[in-house]
Amino acid sequence: MFLTDIHTHTFFSPDGRASLSEMLWAAEALHISHLGICEHFDYDFLSPAHYAAGGGPFPTTDPAAYFSAARKLQGERGESPPLLLAGAEFGYSPDPIVQARLKALSEAYSPDFTVNSVHIIDGADVFFADYFHGKSKAEAYRKYLLRLRESLDAPYPYDIVGHIGYPVRGAPYPDRGMHYEEFSTLFDDILKTIIERGKILEINGSADGTGSPHLPTYDVIARYHALGGRFVSFGSDAHEPSRLLAGREAAVSTLKAIGFSFLTLPMRGEYVHIPL
Ligand SMILES: [Zn+2]
Ligand SMILES: [Zn+2]
Repeated sequence: MFLTDIHTHTFFSPDGRASLSEMLWAAEALHISHLGICEHFDYDFLSPAHYAAGGGPFPTTDPAAYFSAARKLQGERGESPPLLLAGAEFGYSPDPIVQARLKALSEAYSPDFTVNSVHIIDGADVFFADYFHGKSKAEAYRKYLLRLRESLDAPYPYDIVGHIGYPVRGAPYPDRGMHYEEFSTLFDDILKTIIERGKILEINGSADGTGSPHLPTYDVIARYHALGGRFVSFGSDAHEPSRLLAGREAAVSTLKAIGFSFLTLPMRGEYVHIPL
């Protein structure tokens, strides 16, 4: 059996809590076959909207330092497991300056895979309470899903659509679930677009407090399958060794129950399918 975890972060990300080597050693001890690092590139924090919302400069990953360290480790390790994938998590923004910067970064460093994620809307991280201030749940979630739909048209290459439902982690509503039925038209548009473009739907194991063991929720993943979607990846979103593989068992049992038979690993533009 192959154990894969392809959404993880290290000290190169501003919120990472372990070194690349520490994550790798821990992954080795857990018999992980493929470890995907995808450090944050959130240039939206540089946008005027962020400053208008009162935000100051925010650090993000130094691409030169990260990719040179990761490529060096890859060279040293060769094929020995866990196979290290040096990826990137791009924080989508509608700002053309941010998009151009991410495109240039992709061309300069050729990440082994790229996760495209929506973290920031109007200068606020949708993970934090500020984003929800003065918005109903329907408004806040609709705005997020519209932005997510827009992110699928990003002008840079990407493989994986990251953690759909991310705002649920920090939402202040009594029933905070982002259910398929409440936003079915929007979800269908998103899921069909992912399928048409041959992208991978991420099952993210970092879902504490969302009422679901993973993001997106079961109903959304089932709808993706019903529409013909077959490409899924698993990522714990671990920022420290103890979180590696977090939520994987629940994710795999959801996937099997729905009828998925493999996980898809993006490796430098090629997809490799690994049986569940
Ligand atoms: Zn993320
Ligand atoms: Zn992440």
